[in-house]
Amino acid sequence: MIAGNQAPLGQESLRERDRRYLWHPYTQHKTAPEHIAITRGQGALLWDEEGKQYIDAIASWWVNPYGHSNTYIADAIYRQLTTLEHVLFGGFTHEPAILLAERLVPLLPPGQEKLFFSDNGSTAVEVAIKAALQYYYNKGEKRTKIIALENAFHGDTFAAMAASGITFFTEAFRGSLVEVTHIPVPVKGSEDEALAVLKALAATGEYAAFIFEPLVQGAAGMVMYEPQALDRLIAVCRDHGVFTIADEVMTGFGKTGKIFASGHLENKPDMMCLSKALTGGTIPMAVTTFTGKIFKGFYDDDVNRVLFHGHTFMANPTGCAAALASLDLLLSDEMQQNIRRINENHLAFMKKMQHHPRVKEVRVRGVILALEIAREGKEEYYGGFRNRLYNFFISRGIILRPVGNIVYILPPYIITDDLLRNIYDVVEEAVEKIT
Ligand SMILES: *Cc1c(COP(=O)(O)O)cnc(C)c1O
Repeated sequence: MIAGNQAPLGQESLRERDRRYLWHPYTQHKTAPEHIAITRGQGALLWDEEGKQYIDAIASWWVNPYGHSNTYIADAIYRQLTTLEHVLFGGFTHEPAILLAERLVPLLPPGQEKLFFSDNGSTAVEVAIKAALQYYYNKGEKRTKIIALENAFHGDTFAAMAASGITFFTEAFRGSLVEVTHIPVPVKGSEDEALAVLKALAATGEYAAFIFEPLVQGAAGMVMYEPQALDRLIAVCRDHGVFTIADEVMTGFGKTGKIFASGHLENKPDMMCLSKALTGGTIPMAVTTFTGKIFKGFYDDDVNRVLFHGHTFMANPTGCAAALASLDLLLSDEMQQNIRRINENHLAFMKKMQHHPRVKEVRVRGVILALEIAREGKEEYYGGFRNRLYNFFISRGIILRPVGNIVYILPPYIITDDLLRNIYDVVEEAVEKIT
């Protein structure tokens, strides 16, 4: 079979062929270098078309804790694909979704009773925000605004984008967004200010929900704050009828040392958004979870009170099977041991680096380590210094995506101590050399 208008492909590399038709995320194609074509992955390693090896030090954007080409998940997917690959979730149900719910609910913070499936982190957030807004609409109460944290990232669909606080990501779309007020992040020294601002907003009665990335703001550069600070914010929301949405798309499934970051909290959120590592980095899938109280706000004889949301691939059985297999891996003693081992290694590296004259701060939570390189002035998210760091890491065969002057490591949990040391050595070298 010969495709009519195909260019001759003979000697062209994948890198070159990519340029013809493909559009990449957050990429200025006029100035971006060619994309590295990965042909194979195994464990924490990836190989490109020239055979060069890379350590995946960020678990491919935080989705892959159990290693690339994991055969345990692959077998589960294959079995599901050859039993029931997909069936519509409107009017029908299936065991993989039921099982996944039965296994997830006991792991969630107390009170989470209902699961709504979708396809990715942004849609999980979209569903949560829509549910909060429609809950109050159904009640006839005028609460149309949302509270979020500064520098938050909640995804790129419209409500998720509105909640995001990294302004250059969202500037072009202002005017078409849900009304969101951003409050200070309760990092050390700003806890009281954040609390005061939140209190004033909550007291207006205009806000339906407060959304946050619990304990670690991923895309902001792994900005970290304490559970106690968040507990106080959640308590204020509870007192004022403002629902709390824990966006655990990044922090979920072990990254902070507990299964969910909300596990570090005394006060539990009303909704949770899960995606990324849910399926071990194999199949796009997400879940939004709810308390019974929120579900009851839609439970009515009136059909117009249903949650007006749905996706074609909702609760895709193959995705559910991948998520079930991923949970088996996460809950194994071996994986829990891996998480503790990475944390210990991170803490040792933090101790080594935190007083380095070129280091501004090192912070660790669970398997996440962030190191801020001391620089004059404020760094651009995708600025020149960041690009020099990125290129240096790539030249050393390590995939790290610094945010401005912040280098963070979030490796697959199965990474060996040797590979981890290799990453630390190269980061240390970058701190010394890259200016
Ligand atoms: C990545 C991310 C999202 C968006 O997920 P997508 O699958 O990219 O749509 C939302 N929230 C948080 C906290 C994230 O890290």
